[in-house]
Amino acid sequence: MKKLPTKLIFLSSASLLLAACVSSPLERRQVVLYSEADMAARGISAYQQMREEMPASEDLNATRYVQCVADHVIEALPRDIRDRYDWEVTLFASEQVNAFALPGGKIGVYEGLLDIAINQHQLAAVMSHEVGHVLANHSNERASQSALRNVGFGVAQILGVSDNTLEAISMGAQLGVFLPFNRTQESEADVVGLTLMARAGFEPEESITLWENMAMGGGERPPELLSTHPSPATRMNELASRMPAAEIELDAAQANGRYPDCIR
Ligand SMILES: [Zn+2]
Repeated sequence: MKKLPTKLIFLSSASLLLAACVSSPLERRQVVLYSEADMAARGISAYQQMREEMPASEDLNATRYVQCVADHVIEALPRDIRDRYDWEVTLFASEQVNAFALPGGKIGVYEGLLDIAINQHQLAAVMSHEVGHVLANHSNERASQSALRNVGFGVAQILGVSDNTLEAISMGAQLGVFLPFNRTQESEADVVGLTLMARAGFEPEESITLWENMAMGGGERPPELLSTHPSPATRMNELASRMPAAEIELDAAQANGRYPDCIR
């Protein structure tokens, strides 16, 4: 183990001091280490890398359909966030039942999801949930937690931080955009997503049907989306309890003429 240069000790304590305390959209206190611009840059670079490594769908109708749903969801975002990024969506040629949204406004949908999310409302439910993670800064939170754990470990060594630890800090931060979310974050993304889809004019109740499809569609092997997410029963109960508020959002959206009409 190498001795920690003094400069690095200062660096570590400085980043601890710089950790900002912010609030999620649901007023939960969050510790975030990285700037929004930093997270956006990571999200955009991860997205570009995925586009280089994974082929996009060749199904033009499906691609147009996914773009149409994304356009409506993006249109319903708070204006400052909508205008801050170059929002983009890619339909990937993959049988995986999955989707993601990254800081910096990049959304990915896998073809396999379209067999489970069978109409525009259900697809909007998944997309809005993923965008909900972005709105609530969840990647920053996860990357920060991971880095703080690593810094804490280094400081505990007192005499020094090994090169491995430093590597772990930068790796955790680098991978921050793809760390799995925890239960609290998942519930938060459900709530934020439900509001977002309703504001876009999609039927919020379809989010419950979506999770039913998801639970049934997996057969022996549950869809990937479920393996990292809370049990369908828990999530359906939570969504049901939020439905009256979402219906009010939907009424307001429809009063503003928001009736999405995306057809595959
Ligand atoms: Zn999620």
